Amino acid sequence: MMIDLKKFEVWFVTGSQHLYGPETLEKVAEHSREIAGGLDATPQMPVRVVFKPVLTTADAVHELCREANNAAHCIGLVTWMHTFSPAKMWIAGLKALQKPFLHLHTQYNRELPWATIDMDFMNLNQAAHGDREFGFIGSRMRLDRKVVVGFWQDLEVISELGTWARAAAGWHDAQHLKVARFGDNMRNVAVTEGDKVQAKIQLAYSVDGFGVGDLVARIHAASDRDVDHLVSEYEDTYTLSEPLTAKGKQRASLLDAARIELGLRHFLKDGNFHAFTDTFEDLHGLNQLPGIAVQRLMADGYGFGAEGDWKTAALVRTMKVMAAGLDAGTSFMEDYTYHLENGGLVLGAHMLEICPSIASGKPSCEIHPLSIGGKGDPVRLVFDSQTGPAVVATIVDVGERFRMVINKVNVIPPEVPLPKLPVARAVWIPEPNLAVAAACWIYAGGAHHTGFSLCLTAQHLQDYAEMAGIECVLIDNDTTVHACKNELRWNDAYYRLTGWR
Ligand code: MN
Repeated sequence: MMIDLKKFEVWFVTGSQHLYGPETLEKVAEHSREIAGGLDATPQMPVRVVFKPVLTTADAVHELCREANNAAHCIGLVTWMHTFSPAKMWIAGLKALQKPFLHLHTQYNRELPWATIDMDFMNLNQAAHGDREFGFIGSRMRLDRKVVVGFWQDLEVISELGTWARAAAGWHDAQHLKVARFGDNMRNVAVTEGDKVQAKIQLAYSVDGFGVGDLVARIHAASDRDVDHLVSEYEDTYTLSEPLTAKGKQRASLLDAARIELGLRHFLKDGNFHAFTDTFEDLHGLNQLPGIAVQRLMADGYGFGAEGDWKTAALVRTMKVMAAGLDAGTSFMEDYTYHLENGGLVLGAHMLEICPSIASGKPSCEIHPLSIGGKGDPVRLVFDSQTGPAVVATIVDVGERFRMVINKVNVIPPEVPLPKLPVARAVWIPEPNLAVAAACWIYAGGAHHTGFSLCLTAQHLQDYAEMAGIECVLIDNDTTVHACKNELRWNDAYYRLTGWR
């Protein structure tokens, strides 16, 4: 299941009005076409940028917005007012628009032609005031949108557009996302629960529960031939630990693990699910907790949340879509344990289910006992994470709203090898440090499960949160506990006034 963002489009929409006459409007169209084409051709733009005819009437705006709503591959609009476009003519269209939009505040010319500037130039290059008129109506209508300012060929501007387009692709994917839950929530756990009806209304994805027996039936249906084929793929891709090799005494567990992967894949594919959860408390009929199967499905773009955590499963899927085509990886993650020296380090891991897209080398395929769940030893991939700047993010249901919490972190190599640790892991230093980051995370009610990414930035997630209309709390080097606590209080007041959407 390759995620291909190039099948998606953002529409480049330029507003104007009739007063300028055909000659100026032709110039506006020519310039817009050039900007759209320029953006489309940049490698930082993950989706297609499609030029749309210049809009000069309220009817044309309304029609374009309705067309965008209905266009299956259109994930959002980039709007720009090269000239002045009286903004009352945008109200009906923006009211109808159901897709995200970005307001690009740019100008066709980077420089003013100081020596030759005349009124023709002034009449054509009016974004400085035209975009403010357009901005007003967005604010007046309380519309969530992204404003990007700068010259359209500048790398920083293009990167901001690319980041937003990735977020829009994630948001678009969520509109059709189905999350399968095998079993329910881990009993008594609070943070992984939430309002699934509201998730459907606001976050768009749907969450469907299945008895684990439905999955077990698919696992049993996998053919021996397919199992053998998949096991050879494991042998080609990973370093197998001795007990799992052809003559090893736990070889049968590897075959079981492959059979589980096949069953899971078939189940998800047939039901068109792109994210899933399981729980070690409900494995009736399964010989082992799915480990390598979950890890490999995540590497193929599926979202996953352990212990019934459907919100994290959906978030990981959205992050996978946003990260499509980028080099580094994205995974389900858990803040597992701490090193309280050196300012504080987090060892992130899970019982099994970390995505090999973040692996720094060839993963080893191993089998070890799991001290929880009372099942057979599960097969899993073990590796150290790649290093570098990364983000962890969570979405929690805090009662009358969803809250996203993001922490910027820096992944470092473990100080020494961890030969006894039988799970994949990442070691990181949170920004601004563990004391502030963990205090703010805890005040914000952030979960222990997260989506973790070495290729996405906080901005991708913030842009997504804007599109979803959810609260978003960022913890980074500028964060203080005092300011964060105030932000949470103020947000509480704001969202209690506005409520669920
Ligand atoms: Mn967990």
